[in-house]
Amino acid sequence: MDNTPERKQRVLSLIQPTSIPTLGNYLGALKNWKTMSREYDCIYGVADLHALTVRIEPSTLRSQTQQMLAMLLSLDLDPENNIVFVQSHVHTHAELAWILNCYTQFGEASRMTQFKDKSRKHADNINVGLFDYPVLMAADILVYQSQFVPIGADQKQHLELARNIADRFNGVYGQTFTVPEPFIGQKGARIMSLQDPTSKMSKSDANPKASVSILDTPDVILKKFKSAVTDSEASVRYAEGKDGINNLMTIYSCCTGLSYEQIESDFAGKGYGDFKKAVAEAVIEELRPVQETYARIIKDKAYIAECAKSGAEKALYVSQKTLRKVQKKVGLWQG
Ligand code: ATP
Ligand code: MG
Repeated sequence: MDNTPERKQRVLSLIQPTSIPTLGNYLGALKNWKTMSREYDCIYGVADLHALTVRIEPSTLRSQTQQMLAMLLSLDLDPENNIVFVQSHVHTHAELAWILNCYTQFGEASRMTQFKDKSRKHADNINVGLFDYPVLMAADILVYQSQFVPIGADQKQHLELARNIADRFNGVYGQTFTVPEPFIGQKGARIMSLQDPTSKMSKSDANPKASVSILDTPDVILKKFKSAVTDSEASVRYAEGKDGINNLMTIYSCCTGLSYEQIESDFAGKGYGDFKKAVAEAVIEELRPVQETYARIIKDKAYIAECAKSGAEKALYVSQKTLRKVQKKVGLWQG
């Protein structure tokens, strides 16, 4: 049952199948997903409905959705005790999103900075879905009564909107939704581009040298780190104005567990060449187990389909309870 005291706290997070995840997605989100799956009741999904907000070839979307699901299954998330699913396989998300649209103000949705950024990037296709994206995201979270949502810093504003919608609805109809809390890992919340360390590393960046893909080979990873933009000081220390080195230190720290002070003392008197090589090696080691499992799982299409089916069944079971409650509260006649 949903409200028994012994139920573990619930965590929800989704990732769009827009491309193979980057090291930023991994350190900012996926790595935390793995850790949290040990302690919480976790629901993780592939956000294929969200991916429709920008133009994507149908065949590409289909194959990337399977690849992303395989990627989640490679994270050692224990799909028996947690739920791993594809968003469009669970109809409650879109249905709740419609109802929540009617409890979201146009003005507050207009303030979302990601909408403004993406509208600029896709000026020829500023569709209503792009605008409505955060309301669907609110439905994704609220439909499972999630307590925590692990996100990178870029999603903080969207989570705030989900909280406001939940509070507003609860205020009108009485306690209906759990108001979710963001879970932002202290380090890795914002991994920056290797070519422009003032902007975030992103899956959809057109410059392949700017980001490391989770599936890059060791050679490619080494090459990308060697050509990472740094500064001319040649001193490995975390300081204002050293965005490139700060970013590399963050990545190194996430992969090795070393503090910035330890890194500074380990690399005292050494040049950036040595440091970049060490960062690349740490990343290669960090990604190795995921890459090995992924290579095995992606070949087994039947297993991927089977996991998608059982994940969707479990997700539907949990989310339907909330949807029914909401439908009843707003006055939809249930016959
Ligand atoms: P897109 O460019 O398609 O939006 P994205 O790289 O921003 O891709 P999303 O699918 O939007 O990826 O986000 C997946 C998760 O990764 C989210 O939790 C997001 O906060 C996190 N994330 C995205 N980029 C970074 C980054 N550079 N550093 C840390 N976390 C990140
Ligand atoms: Mg994004």
